[in-house]
Amino acid sequence: RKRAYLAERDLPFETRDGVAVSVMMNAGLLMDMSHLEDTGAMGVGLYRTELPFMTRPSLPDVATQTLLYQKILEQAGGKPVVFRTLDVGGDKLLPYWSNDGEDNPAMGWRSIRITLDRPAVLRAQLRALLRASAGRELRVMFPMIADVAEFDQARRLVDAEVARERQRGGVLPREICVGTMLEVPALLYQFPALLRVADFISVGSNDLLQFLFATDRGNPRVSARYDTLSVPVLRMLREVLHQCQAAGKPVAVCGEMAGRPLEAMALVGLGFRALSMAAQGVGPVKQMLRSMDSRAVATYVGALVDKGAANPRRGLRAFARDHGI
Ligand code: PEP
Ligand code: MG
Repeated sequence: RKRAYLAERDLPFETRDGVAVSVMMNAGLLMDMSHLEDTGAMGVGLYRTELPFMTRPSLPDVATQTLLYQKILEQAGGKPVVFRTLDVGGDKLLPYWSNDGEDNPAMGWRSIRITLDRPAVLRAQLRALLRASAGRELRVMFPMIADVAEFDQARRLVDAEVARERQRGGVLPREICVGTMLEVPALLYQFPALLRVADFISVGSNDLLQFLFATDRGNPRVSARYDTLSVPVLRMLREVLHQCQAAGKPVAVCGEMAGRPLEAMALVGLGFRALSMAAQGVGPVKQMLRSMDSRAVATYVGALVDKGAANPRRGLRAFARDHGI
């Protein structure tokens, strides 16, 4: 099977009826970057920057981070990389920042909340990202944004760092795109305002669904309580997509669901044209894409959502089987 994916590696990511889908991969370690080559993924849609922070005894300084981000961009060889700023806390602990005493770490002092409270940490990371992207494109996004004001605050730190670099005569990136993860349901109710200020959206379905269903993503006792292919999820995602399209802002799905072929089929059927996934999902998703007719899937998934089907997964699975997907 692995060999079959390799044989398809150089074929385009497109559906049987010729709809191009941007399939990117998620990464978090320098060594993950080699999968760009062996999977043929079109870029890195989510680079989780926290791992090097977690494996060191103290915060990496600007020079260390700059070097690392430079290496990542070099290994990407011109393919786009979306860097996500530090997303620690919750299930990702730093040895030097304890969150002892939090009853609900997933909803506690984590992620952008930490880095907005410790802006020097975020500014150092942004400085390193700007320097590493000198003369190139920088794509950066923030995790766990719950309010447009948080996005504005984080974006102002980007602006401050750009001004600082300019003042010291540094070479700036050719272009800077600043986006956000959509992981907190409250953001859905501020979407028009968010889309006026964010350059792109990346749907982090792992956290978004955890909070939508109030179901711990890491607890197997409850994780079967909701389905990523249920009507509320599909309706929400369709709404997100339509709002992004209306605002002319790019949107991708980068949670685990994007890397599962049936889920990816449903997402493309809903109209998504950009997915980012763990490297091992790229081959199976490409195989699925190349065998699906986007219009037929769109009609089918649209009808399931409109009528509020009790079990869309069952229908989608049967559809895929019947259509040789
Ligand atoms: C997500 O929440 O869907 C996501 C992609 O981020 P992480 O899995 O790193 O929390
Ligand atoms: Mg997340």
